[in-house]
Amino acid sequence: MSRRSQKLVEYGKPLVLVTEQVPTAPRGGAVVQVACAGVCHSDIHATEGILQQQNLPLILGHEISGTVANMDPTVKTDVKVGDRVVVYSMGGCSACSRCAEGRPIDCLNRVVNTNGAFIDGGFSDYVVCPDAKLLLKVPDSVAMDTACLLPCSGLTAYNAVATIMPTVNDFARHTDCTVLLVGMGGLGLWAVQIAKQLLPSNVRLVCADVDVDKLASAKDAGCDVTVHWGKEGQ
Ligand SMILES: [Zn+2]
Ligand SMILES: [Zn+2]
Repeated sequence: MSRRSQKLVEYGKPLVLVTEQVPTAPRGGAVVQVACAGVCHSDIHATEGILQQQNLPLILGHEISGTVANMDPTVKTDVKVGDRVVVYSMGGCSACSRCAEGRPIDCLNRVVNTNGAFIDGGFSDYVVCPDAKLLLKVPDSVAMDTACLLPCSGLTAYNAVATIMPTVNDFARHTDCTVLLVGMGGLGLWAVQIAKQLLPSNVRLVCADVDVDKLASAKDAGCDVTVHWGKEGQ
């Protein structure tokens, strides 16, 4: 079985389309047939050579959804071959106690097995996930092009909202309050939708950006008030 991949071969040059054999699932890991792979700004930085931390050639793409094609049958997980999944791309050593707890980002052995940054990623027909426990099932109600964004931009925005939540909940118990979200790009739009779901209903969401089109998207996503900021010097 072969796969087509877009590889970063040289910084500052376009990605190169290559066809090669699909690797088999490593011990403890899985192979996922990619449905969607988001293009993150860090992928752009990588191609431009701003990060320069990769061993080239490398398949970029860390925002991945797909279907489990095969996996190490000895892994104890509720995910099985054929399931729709997202790949949480920040893998660790898969052996230490923190990786076992599902905290690979705090890996005691400081191993960074990140798909699309340090190991091959999702700009391919198939991606190898080093640890099948990093696969999360996608409900049928969630489209794959939305699901692929959840482990990166969606999770980042969720973290921001979850961090302010205790303080905002405390304020909202005593008085109406307002939350200002700055920047209505991809992350900002996630933040609006997540804040609408998680924060109390008497919290007013104000969204600011320098781009009126982005503010229109923020309004569609559910923000209450938009503020058009001028660019520096204007
Ligand atoms: Zn990303
Ligand atoms: Zn570890």
